[in-house]
Amino acid sequence: MNLLLFHTREYTTGDSIRVDGERARHLVQRGAQPGDCLRVGEIDGLLGEGTIRSMTGDSVTLSVQLERQPPQKLPLAFVVALPRPKMLRRILRTVAEFGVPELHLVNSYRVEKSYWQTPVLEPDTLRSYLLQGLAQGVDTVLPAVHCHRRFKPWVEDELPALLDGRRGLLAHPGDHPACPHKLTENTLVCVGPEGGFTDYEVEKLRATGCETVSLGARILRVENAVTALLGRMA
Ligand code: SAH
Repeated sequence: MNLLLFHTREYTTGDSIRVDGERARHLVQRGAQPGDCLRVGEIDGLLGEGTIRSMTGDSVTLSVQLERQPPQKLPLAFVVALPRPKMLRRILRTVAEFGVPELHLVNSYRVEKSYWQTPVLEPDTLRSYLLQGLAQGVDTVLPAVHCHRRFKPWVEDELPALLDGRRGLLAHPGDHPACPHKLTENTLVCVGPEGGFTDYEVEKLRATGCETVSLGARILRVENAVTALLGRMA
C-alpha cells in the first residue's frame, strides 16, 4: 500500500482519523507500530503524512497532516467498450492508477449483455477498485465513471458534446497513423471490445470526429491496449 486513503467521515477530531477493515488489517499484518509515519490522503482531498497513535485489533488511529495537492490528472476522457468483469476490475484500477479523470463504459454489438449485470458495476464495488488504483498511484481524486448501455444514442447524442474541445481518437487495429505520445491537448480515446468494434460502430465513431490510430502491428488484448495507450499518453 503506497498510500493510506481515508474518508472525511473517518476524522474523529480535527487532525485524528480512525480507520478499520482491510486498511487496519493491512497495517497490523505489515507490523506497523505506534509512532510509525506513513503517506496518507483524504479521498477527493489533500495528501500528507500520518503518524500512528494507537492500534487495536481492528482499528488504527492516526494523527494526520495534509499539505500537498494530489498530482495533476491526464487531460483525457477514456472510453472503453464494457469488458468482461475480470478485465473490468483491472481496467478500473489501471485508469485510476494512471490519473484518468473520466471513464466511459459503453455498449457495443460485441459486448455480452450479461456483462452489464456484473456486481463490479455496483457503486461501492466499483469505487473500491478505483481506490486501489488511487492508492497505488498515490492520488486521492476518484475518476468519474459513466455507463452508456446503448451505443447508438450515446454516439449520436452524447459523444458530440464529449468531443467539444477535445481531440477524438479511436484505437483500432490496422494500418492507421500511430497513436500520439505524451498528451498535450484535451483528448478522448476509445477502445473496443474483445471482438473489436463492428464496421458500423467504427464508421459512427469516425463520422462523429474520432481519428483511427494504431498501437502497432500486433492485436493486443483489451487490458493491454488500455495500458499501452496510457503508457504512451501519460
Ligand atoms: N478482434 C479484433 C481485435 C480487438 S482487440 C480485431 O481483429 O479487430 C480489442 C481492442 O483493443 C480493439 O478494439 C482496439 O481498441 C484495441 N487494440 C488492440 N490492438 C490494437 C492495435 N494494435 N492498435 C490499435 N488498437 C488496438
